[in-house]
Amino acid sequence: MSEHSKTIVIVGGGLSGTCMAIALHQTCPNHQIILFEKNPEAPGRGIAYHTDFTHQPLNVPAAGMSLFPDQPDHFVQWLLKNRFRYKHLVPEVHAKAFVSRKVFGDYVTEELEKSMHGAGSRIQVRIDQVRKIEKSGERFIVGTESQVQITADVVILGLGNFAPADILSDDDSIYNDPKYLSNPWTDKVYSGLTGYENILLAGTGLSAVDVILGLRVRGFEGHITMCSRRGRLPLPHDLSHPPLVIEYPGDLSPKAWFLLVRQLIRNNRDQPWITVIEGLRPHTSRIWQSWSIEEKRYFLRKIRPFWEIARHRIPHESFQLVQELIQQGKLKIEVGTPRMISADSTEITVQICGEQEPYCTARFSKVINCTGPESNWRKIKSDLIQSLLDDGLIAIDDTGLGIACDADGSVTGSGGQRINGLYCIGPMRKAQLWETTALREIRDQVFQLAKSLN
Ligand SMILES: Cc1cc2nc3c(=O)[nH]c(=O)nc-3n(C[C@H](O)[C@H](O)[C@H](O)COP(=O)(O)OP(=O)(O)OC[C@H]3O[C@@H](n4cnc5c(N)ncnc54)[C@H](O)[C@@H]3O)c2cc1C
Repeated sequence: MSEHSKTIVIVGGGLSGTCMAIALHQTCPNHQIILFEKNPEAPGRGIAYHTDFTHQPLNVPAAGMSLFPDQPDHFVQWLLKNRFRYKHLVPEVHAKAFVSRKVFGDYVTEELEKSMHGAGSRIQVRIDQVRKIEKSGERFIVGTESQVQITADVVILGLGNFAPADILSDDDSIYNDPKYLSNPWTDKVYSGLTGYENILLAGTGLSAVDVILGLRVRGFEGHITMCSRRGRLPLPHDLSHPPLVIEYPGDLSPKAWFLLVRQLIRNNRDQPWITVIEGLRPHTSRIWQSWSIEEKRYFLRKIRPFWEIARHRIPHESFQLVQELIQQGKLKIEVGTPRMISADSTEITVQICGEQEPYCTARFSKVINCTGPESNWRKIKSDLIQSLLDDGLIAIDDTGLGIACDADGSVTGSGGQRINGLYCIGPMRKAQLWETTALREIRDQVFQLAKSLN
């Protein structure tokens, strides 16, 4: 190793951490990289791309899922090379195909393995949970579940998405009831089903649609109720037109920005409105960063629900399936917040509460929590996060959406000071960037960070 080499620890082996390791391998050939992932099945996959998601499609067409910002067709080329292997899952390979998430996980895992092969022992993936990170002079001591201690020059946190916050209930024992499934992102939600149950999906977003696809592929014939505060379903992609080319509109207030979106949609009636949302996407982070904390809170309160629906879409086939199930009377949407009241040996009783008061009570054989990743950092169950907060090495941003950090992802401690050498990537940067959860943004930020660490 050269005298300039550093030891870089990455915590979290999901897409963000894996992409970081690959980027560091390309840009920093002298550094030692150690990636810690607590789940043996997760390196290269994380929550979103593990093998349980064989039949759930990506929410982004193949053309948008290359790991490398400078090779936009890399994933499509990989699919073409592997098309025989995936004939059963990806019958037709093309840029607009919505490929199985498990297949994308295979791609990421293979790219990680390629980097490891090229790097020899310079990249290590260790299956172990990081429990503590302490500052020691200019360096960090990283301590793990299995009592390993590593001294690192740089630590990069890619802790990703956290399981949804539990559905409301005054009876804590329901949280341990096997009929309540708190995490929708695993195959466990389908185990023990006869296929004729009456299931409540708490949530009407992307995770709930994923569960519907998972149920259908297993031949589920029972009844599904979806329930959320506004009862809005995700909208389908429309890939018929490329995104509109839109210049940076200037630092607008959230209200002015919302009006601009409407104006642009009106002015471009000859194109699907989605082209406006996609055209604005490159500017979203800059606009978000120009807002004061009050303006951000205003956006979160008033505009977020509309923005999320417009921005995060599903493949047309998934949308159609949901519509068909509604028409067949097999799927019902309720508007309101669910509260679990009681559980007996066969069912959970749930009240659906409107703005003011409960308006309906129903019994379900399973309740699956699809309310989306926990976004309240104060409630996240992670020893590592709690110890970093207690030690003042990280601080929750005023919006509460993620941890405070600088433009390059460098973490800000509880005293407002930059913690040199400690970085965060991916969804953890939501408070700073807003648009930071999808691959396109993640790969740009990790390659930028890798270059700066050379
Ligand atoms: C169900 C789902 C589907 C999605 N689909 C798409 C899509 O189609 N396209 C798209 O662009 N984006 C999609 N996303 C967005 C997603 O945020 C990113 O694509 C990406 O998966 C985020 O990766 P990550 O590594 O930051 O997080 P995660 O996937 O959550 O990975 C974090 C990893 O860190 C590990 N970890 C946490 N704490 C520790 C610790 N203390 N020690 C060791 N390991 C630890 C966890 O075990 C986990 O594997 C999806 C998200 C979800 C939840």
